[in-house]
Amino acid sequence: MSIFTKIITGEIPSYKVAENDDFIAFLDINPNAKGHTLVVPKKEENKIFDLSKEEYRSLMDFSYRVAKALEKTVLCKRIGMSVIGLEVPHVHVHLIPINAMADMQFQQKVKFTNEEFVSLAKSISGNFE
Ligand code: AMP
Repeated sequence: MSIFTKIITGEIPSYKVAENDDFIAFLDINPNAKGHTLVVPKKEENKIFDLSKEEYRSLMDFSYRVAKALEKTVLCKRIGMSVIGLEVPHVHVHLIPINAMADMQFQQKVKFTNEEFVSLAKSISGNFE
């Protein structure tokens, strides 16, 4: 069972920003930038292009809605999107509010307190439509 499935089942906590029957979005615990969010299908699949076309399209639709909420919440030049999955073998889309190329490079990391994560997740969630 992946660490993200454990988040989905509630076994471990997350800073959730959005959820429906098929997807969940929560803040990345080791973010590149403020608002770095992961969008995850509840069905545990390793690689994004092993999803069916329909599942892939639904994941992109849900990610679009999360990105819109991020744009409304976090001051940034744009929302960057990336799929890697080398660390956690459970499909996830990284949505990252970016101001510079370095924000997409997964080297620079920013720290937040628990209270800051909670407050940010609540604000993004409030802008999710
Ligand atoms: P990758 O699989 O290379 O796309 O990276 C996995 C991402 O998941 C990294 O950015 C981690 O910081 C993030 N991550 C790992 N565990 C957790 C967790 N428990 N909650 C939130 N994000 C996590």
